[in-house]
Amino acid sequence: MRTADLTKAFRGLVALRNHAISVGAGEIVGIIGPNGSGKSTFFNLVTGFSRPNAGTIEFLGQSIAGLSTAAIVERGIARTFQGSRLFGSLSVRDNVLAAAQLRHPIGPLAAIVRGARYRERLAAAQHYADELLELMALKPKARQPASALPYGDQRRLEIARALATQPRLLLLDEPAAGLDSHETRILAGLIRTIRDRYGIAVVVVEHDMDLIMTLCERIQVLATGEVICTGTPAEVRSNSRVREAYLGHA
Ligand code: ATP
Ligand code: MG
Repeated sequence: MRTADLTKAFRGLVALRNHAISVGAGEIVGIIGPNGSGKSTFFNLVTGFSRPNAGTIEFLGQSIAGLSTAAIVERGIARTFQGSRLFGSLSVRDNVLAAAQLRHPIGPLAAIVRGARYRERLAAAQHYADELLELMALKPKARQPASALPYGDQRRLEIARALATQPRLLLLDEPAAGLDSHETRILAGLIRTIRDRYGIAVVVVEHDMDLIMTLCERIQVLATGEVICTGTPAEVRSNSRVREAYLGHA
């Protein structure tokens, strides 16, 4: 994924200005920055929840700026949100299956339209859902309603749900928020496993500096909508603008 000159304003407020980043296949990239620096705005632009005022977003060599959220999922980009968006009354497993449906129709309508291939497709989606629940240590709770899960489990279910759409790029918006240090370490291991096992690129927006510094190969720092530095963890640590704008206040 590659952005250039990406700008988004809300009335007078420029939330993101001339943003540029490139994320290669299988890379884990972090984005940090104070509250309101444009991190979620960037995810919203890439995933079609919001349209840029200017600039380009390319994924796998094609422009995706301005496409619908559904079209972007089909292209292979999945995300989580800062706040929970689980279907609380659905079971843990059905949350994952509902997400799988977004990219590969497996519901009753698909059964009629696609005939015999439907059963195969449904079986594959169920198999993959179970694999994801196993990976996220949620298999024993598969039949529970999502709302009954402890907070940390819900955050992992959000990631399982995003993965159910079989993305090539996964965007995680503050996945460690509200987790304790033990849960955060487990999360870091899971993100690496996801990258290694499925070969997908991951962009992590976080306030947890330790997580970002240990997990990410490259880090971008935003402040009031502008990129102030993109580099390795060591480069970011030693960057004077980053110290002034962010680390000094962390
Ligand atoms: P946080 O760490 O608090 O999640 P963030 O870096 O994700 O912050 P954004 O949510 O991207 O920040 O917001 C960037 C700026 O754009 C903020 O000033 C915010 O108030 C503003 N903003 C974001 N979405 C909207 C919107 N839909 N309408 C108006 N202003 C918005
Ligand atoms: Mg945000």
